[in-house]
Amino acid sequence: MDSLLKIGELIDRLRLLIAHWDWLTLIRTAAEVLIIVYAVGWIWVRIRGTQAERVLKGALILTFLCLVSALAGFTLVTAILQQLIPVAVLAFLIIFQPEIRRGLGYLGRNTTFKIDLSLTSATRDRSRFVVEQIIAAVNDLARTKVGALIVVEPLEGERDYLSPGIPVNAEVSSTMLLSIFFPNSPLHDGAVIIRRDKIVAAGVLLRMTDNPNLSYKYGTRHRAAIGLSEVYDGLCIVVSEETGVISAASHGLLVRYNSADELADPLSYIYHMGPGTKASSPLHSFLSLFSHGKKTHVDTAAGVDLDFPESKEAGAERSA
Ligand code: ATP
Ligand code: MG
Repeated sequence: MDSLLKIGELIDRLRLLIAHWDWLTLIRTAAEVLIIVYAVGWIWVRIRGTQAERVLKGALILTFLCLVSALAGFTLVTAILQQLIPVAVLAFLIIFQPEIRRGLGYLGRNTTFKIDLSLTSATRDRSRFVVEQIIAAVNDLARTKVGALIVVEPLEGERDYLSPGIPVNAEVSSTMLLSIFFPNSPLHDGAVIIRRDKIVAAGVLLRMTDNPNLSYKYGTRHRAAIGLSEVYDGLCIVVSEETGVISAASHGLLVRYNSADELADPLSYIYHMGPGTKASSPLHSFLSLFSHGKKTHVDTAAGVDLDFPESKEAGAERSA
């Protein structure tokens, strides 16, 4: 009887508490927690397995040490660690400036906020011509097993490369691309950079991926393509000298194509040839082949081999 009374009292107290709860504040706090959890998850999935993960872990360890030393009353150590944390944040911003710029660029590309980048018909014709020329060149390079690395820059952003290479500044044409990559040409080593309708440079050195999990079968050419694509929105097309296989890297993913024609979709996206492609983002455009039921092989930056079309979503997930 006594315990029943106590339970009734407890229920009454609970009722009172709920009645006085500020529901608006509660919902607002819950929404904030959800947003923070989502944002942390979003960032974590994208930096997992990269250099950023290691830097972030370092910063977390520093913060943890600072807390422990504050709790232990080590004033001098805490003061030193407190000075180090802002430096670590600044270093993070400087080291990952390309990634941060790319991330902010995505917001601009988001359909909701998109500035109208639709092209005039003359520009669209020009872009179509450029895409056709790149595809024709890649086709020939693959057929004759001439190794090549072509970076097609997005319209929004140029980039500084590891080495600027040799300036070319020529109109994009398949003949020009073929002559650059011709094995005895002085420009055949390194990457060619295409900016809009111009081949701006050849013999360019790209940063290579430092992902230790990537399959040993990839040599420096493929690693350079993946490495650049980890920090840059451009499409890095690779033709293998050993096998004649065509691949392209984007967002740290390397996709093997069955023919050069399949590059039309990602290239159309890069050149904003909007209506021609149904893709909603460079990554979707890049992966759109899979939804067409073509068997294409994908290697993620994490070194996991995936066969599509069955696991399209898994591939996109792992790419980050
Ligand atoms: P392939 O299948 O064509 O043999 P691979 O991935 O096995 O390609 P390697 O055989 O090592 O790569 O290719 C070497 C060539 O890749 C070099 O001659 C050079 O042209 C190019 N290359 C290597 N590293 C870079 C780099 N960092 N940036 C640009 N190009 C590079
Ligand atoms: Mg090789």
